[in-house]
Amino acid sequence: MRYDAIVAGASFAGLAVAAQLRGRVLLLDRKQPGTGQTSACGTLLAVAEHLGVMDSVLQVHNHFEIWVGHRLVRYNLLYPFCTFDYTRLCESLLERTDADVLTARVKGMKEQGVETDRGYFESDLIVDATGWRATLARSLSDDYVDRRRMCFGLETVAPHRAEGLHFWANRTLLPDGVTWVFPCGDFSRVGIASYAGRTDLKAALVKFLGSLGLSSADSLHGGFFPWALRQPVVENIFVVGDAAGQCFGLSGEGIRPSLYFGQACGRAMQKVIDGDLSLAAGQAEYSAFVKSHGIYFEAMGALQRLFPHLSELGLYLAGGFIGIRPVLSFLMREYWKGSDPALFSSSKPQRAAHHA
Ligand SMILES: Cc1cc2nc3c(=O)[nH]c(=O)nc-3n(C[C@H](O)[C@H](O)[C@H](O)COP(=O)(O)OP(=O)(O)OC[C@H]3O[C@@H](n4cnc5c(N)ncnc54)[C@H](O)[C@@H]3O)c2cc1C
Repeated sequence: MRYDAIVAGASFAGLAVAAQLRGRVLLLDRKQPGTGQTSACGTLLAVAEHLGVMDSVLQVHNHFEIWVGHRLVRYNLLYPFCTFDYTRLCESLLERTDADVLTARVKGMKEQGVETDRGYFESDLIVDATGWRATLARSLSDDYVDRRRMCFGLETVAPHRAEGLHFWANRTLLPDGVTWVFPCGDFSRVGIASYAGRTDLKAALVKFLGSLGLSSADSLHGGFFPWALRQPVVENIFVVGDAAGQCFGLSGEGIRPSLYFGQACGRAMQKVIDGDLSLAAGQAEYSAFVKSHGIYFEAMGALQRLFPHLSELGLYLAGGFIGIRPVLSFLMREYWKGSDPALFSSSKPQRAAHHA
């Protein structure tokens, strides 16, 4: 079972990689693509525009608010955000790939290939896009996943309509994290996250829902998400998305970087498939691209580390300073550049004759 490329994980990162590839590609996921939503699915509207997935957008948000204790800071956004439908977005990306999709649990790397519960598959080009667990990279490097550099979040859905994105920094409820309400039309995604990676968040989420007059969480989703970059290449494999720690600290925004670096990874891999680059040169191109964005991840990680050390008043004053129009404009422009949506490609790659 030999392929031009194997992509493990078919969420944001894996689908973005696969959608850039022509040739004989195998896309592996333990679940049917589009069925394993873990997040609030909020991102810059420009991501949906440039990726050509506007049909997945549920609501557009032109402002966001942060309650710090009982004080409110409100920001009018230079770049609007949106909330979107996870399944629809995954389906749109899946339509752009000619990959063979197989529901299989990936176990790890073995010799030159990937071992799964549905068999063994070989390729020179292998991608780990399995999320924070980085199943393939970790099978090659024991200490690849550092649990100290991960947040944990839990979320539910509530019948609640509102405008804008809403955050709360409530030290009494949760000293080391935030809660949020992301409206999505007729309903909202309501969640809680601990920057320290605490997992016992359900009681606090129920309390938060109660404070908004909403009922208790019936169905929950969520999990860990990293806040520090990991090596984008481990031995002979490319690592992308949460698997490579490509999630911003403080904001917890990992969808845009997963798609952005996923596309970059796919472009570098296609050059290898086409014979324009050696595997080593393709890996070096992808690594250099990721590392050239390191400053944005370091800055957001530093802000996240600062967060628990500030009092509520300190947070409110810092939030107010950020809200000064020229400061906000500058910071938003820099934040945008961390994974520039204008560089997304929305085109489906031309179908090429299979190589193998
Ligand atoms: C509660 C919460 C809310 C969030 N809200 C937002 C938000 O609003 N906006 C934002 O930008 N980010 C948000 N994030 C972060 C965001 O969800 C992640 O950064 C993003 O999902 C990373 O995408 P990914 O494709 O790298 O990994 P994932 O989305 O985690 O996908 C990994 C894929 O790999 C598959 N997989 C895993 N292990 C195996 C295996 N062994 N074998 C086969 N398949 C496997 C999984 O089934 C999955 O399909 C949130 C995170 C959480 C926890």
